Amino acid sequence: MIPQILKSIFTVGVVSSTIAYIVYKSSSKSFVEIFIIATILQFIFFYFYNSIITYITRVKLESKNLETIQLMNTNNVLIECSSCKKMNNVRVVLSERNEFACDHCKTENILDIQYNTITKTKIYE
Ligand SMILES: [Zn+2]
Repeated sequence: MIPQILKSIFTVGVVSSTIAYIVYKSSSKSFVEIFIIATILQFIFFYFYNSIITYITRVKLESKNLETIQLMNTNNVLIECSSCKKMNNVRVVLSERNEFACDHCKTENILDIQYNTITKTKIYE
């Protein structure tokens, strides 16, 4: 961390010196004045640059997390095709209409999900 910061400060210094030298040669402004302005401008630029990079990274991470959550809410079931009666591995999303094309005969199927209840029984010893 610390060597990285030193490296960044050194790079900023080198860039500022170069800009100051070039501008100093072709204008009446002093080297130190240009050096300070160039340094401040670089700090402002990198502040906004880092803010944008942080924002983009956060948005990407959030969308990745959302994908993971959506994936966790899905299940796969083995179910037979309504036409050829061969088994298919189908991804089920409970909040959506689930359709699949049979892997064997290519028939379009719609998954009909039904819920039933049964009474939980206790075994007394
Ligand atoms: Zn089929």
